[in-house]
Amino acid sequence: MPNYDAIILGAGAAGLMCAAVAGQRARRVLLVDHADEPGKKIIISGGGRCNFTNVNTAADRYISANPHFAKSALGRYTAADFIALVESYGIAWHEKTLGQLFCDGSAKQIVAMLLDECAKGRVDWSLGRAVTGVAHDGDDFRVSIDGRDVTAPALVIATGGPSIPRMGATGFAYDLARQFGLKVVEPRPALVPLTLGGDETLFRSLSGVAADVVASCGKTAFREAALFTHRGLSGPSILQVSSYWRHGQPVGIDFLPDRDAGWLQDAKRTTPRATLRKTLAGALPDRLAEILAERLGMTGELSALTDKKLAEAERRLSHWNFTPNGSEGYAKAEVTAGGISTADLSSQTMEAKRTKNLYAIGEAVDVTGWLGGYNFQWAWASGWAAGQVL
Ligand code: FAD
Repeated sequence: MPNYDAIILGAGAAGLMCAAVAGQRARRVLLVDHADEPGKKIIISGGGRCNFTNVNTAADRYISANPHFAKSALGRYTAADFIALVESYGIAWHEKTLGQLFCDGSAKQIVAMLLDECAKGRVDWSLGRAVTGVAHDGDDFRVSIDGRDVTAPALVIATGGPSIPRMGATGFAYDLARQFGLKVVEPRPALVPLTLGGDETLFRSLSGVAADVVASCGKTAFREAALFTHRGLSGPSILQVSSYWRHGQPVGIDFLPDRDAGWLQDAKRTTPRATLRKTLAGALPDRLAEILAERLGMTGELSALTDKKLAEAERRLSHWNFTPNGSEGYAKAEVTAGGISTADLSSQTMEAKRTKNLYAIGEAVDVTGWLGGYNFQWAWASGWAAGQVL
């Protein structure tokens, strides 16, 4: 007789939701985490206020080898469903920008809510002890936790990705996936600052300077702030494009997205004695304006520059190409892109197609959301989908 109906490995956002839903369906659930407390990433998320969902959630805001995979789960457990849960606990929230919802108070309220939901489902816990092995004898999964074995006919992989290892993040989900014959799409750091080297090192001297830009990588573009750092580029627009970026690709920046073509020539006519630097400083931080004018090699007055040169400057300022030499890696990546291949999972239930009663949910799966609450919504939705069928 197995000890439980389901064992869920990983008490993060996805595992907590899945355990609560299955538990409340009267399933006997054990939720296992090697960390000594659940939901650690939730607690630090959104600067401590947890950007818990996004009202604009749609599958096209997720990166995956199969762009349609997330549709089913996201369609069945929506942002509105999570908001209703949050409101039923009296947790006050507000919308910031771009549909991002945050707690007014603390991210701890979200964890407390999920723990309460788990308690309603009589979920059992194993925290602070390492999982030393997982086996499958055909009927039951056997999980060894520090030498003690527990069994259940169903197993859920919810151990996330390796982003921020100092918080206990590991690639354990991929080890388990491979053990059970599930393919893994090569994981890579995403929502991560990019680093600059070579002759772009100069831009590092702008550390702390931010500007509202359009950053792009290939055909994907985001209008949000970019921030120069002592290692390269960060800020929301850069984090967003980093999820699409591959080594060797340029990242384009439009520093003046609101200016119409010919604006520098207009400026030359109205303020001929102004320098390019001074003109740019009307729209950009002064130090950034200085470096851009320097890099363009245009230090004199506008009146001394031909219209052709000014048109060329405009073109470069709206298509400034940086070629990052890397990213800050898993140590700084908010999420991991790639992961357990969606080709091997049911999009309805998150069950492995070839191993009955094995499930994978949350960030462990090859579904990665944009910055702005999308990753939690995926964790809730995929956890809910599996929790319905365990
Ligand atoms: P996780 O939350 O990572 O949970 C995985 C769990 O598995 C962890 O508790 C871990 O301890 C456990 N685990 C790992 N390995 C093992 C093992 N070998 N044995 C046992 N247990 C193990 N997303 C948003 O939508 N909004 C935000 O505001 C936001 N802010 C973020 C801020 C930061 C700093 C970071 C790092 C991420 C943020 N994210 C945000 C992303 C979001 O936190 C993740 O996408 C989400 O937590 C994924 O949920 P998960 O349950 O799949 O994985």
